[in-house]
Amino acid sequence: MEKREELYSGKAKSVYTTDEADKLVLEFRDDTSAFDGKKKEKLSRKGMVNNRFNAFIMDKIAAAGIETHHISLLSDHESLVKKLDMIPVECVVRNIAAGSICRRLGVEEGLDLNPPTFEFFLKNDELGDPMINEFHIRSFGWAEAEHIEKMKTLTFAVNDVLKELFLAGGMLLVDYKLEFGLFEGRVVLGDEFSPDGCRLWDQQTREKLDKDRFRQGLGGVVEAYEEVGRRIGIQFD
Ligand code: ADP
Repeated sequence: MEKREELYSGKAKSVYTTDEADKLVLEFRDDTSAFDGKKKEKLSRKGMVNNRFNAFIMDKIAAAGIETHHISLLSDHESLVKKLDMIPVECVVRNIAAGSICRRLGVEEGLDLNPPTFEFFLKNDELGDPMINEFHIRSFGWAEAEHIEKMKTLTFAVNDVLKELFLAGGMLLVDYKLEFGLFEGRVVLGDEFSPDGCRLWDQQTREKLDKDRFRQGLGGVVEAYEEVGRRIGIQFD
């Protein structure tokens, strides 16, 4: 496999074509951003940590029978993935209230959501990733009804796998964001799963171990990501 030209450079990752038309290289950079790209910083080791973290989680998800784009780790910062036709929506499951839902609905951070709730957001930084519903997705042609159903089912299926995994490491999976795309007509999990796109709290102390450390200027961001990784059995060096 040969890495060719850069196709896209996002806020945290760069995407490269390869000599195989249906495969891409994802490069996990040290860049970290929040608030739709308004707060930015380079955090040493973050690219490597997220790349390895993501590969480990994608393998767990695949082992549970959920198809993902992940093929293999290529290096500290790079992974080989299936090229998906990305659906421009973010699927969010929340087990505990935190972040934007608290502001929108006036609920207190830490409220248990039983059953867990589900939200769609449009992937559009200029618009601040607005919350949308299934009617918007269909009316604007972002995805078909059948694919919307599949995204919901798969996002909840990931919850069953990951809630257990993190709980075994003494952590609560508060919420997370997934992105899907189409591969040969199937809805497949794409992008990444790392502490950049989820909230994880220590089960006992409720200490934040995710990107909220960056958003809230708490420090120890990458150290917390590594701690999460170690607690679920990932070795970083
Ligand atoms: P953003 O675009 O939000 O700044 P990133 O920096 O993470 O995000 O860039 C990665 C980009 O690659 C995202 O736009 C994501 O949708 C896209 N992507 C992730 N996985 C795949 C895939 N398997 N095939 C095609 N595009 C992908």
